[in-house]
Amino acid sequence: MATQYAHIGKKSWWSGDVKTLCGLILPSDNAKSLWFPVFVKTCPDCLAVQKNGGK
Ligand SMILES: [Zn+2]
Repeated sequence: MATQYAHIGKKSWWSGDVKTLCGLILPSDNAKSLWFPVFVKTCPDCLAVQKNGGK
């Protein structure tokens, strides 16, 4: 079972896709798991970007 990371991202209101801080695009189908990262680690790349004041 692959490690599942919770990414930090913003949902695009026009497409429903989520663009993560580390540059991934998550389809809207997967987006809901993004907001409930209970048993997963937060993506280290996303955290690094957020620390740097992410865009
Ligand atoms: Zn990420």
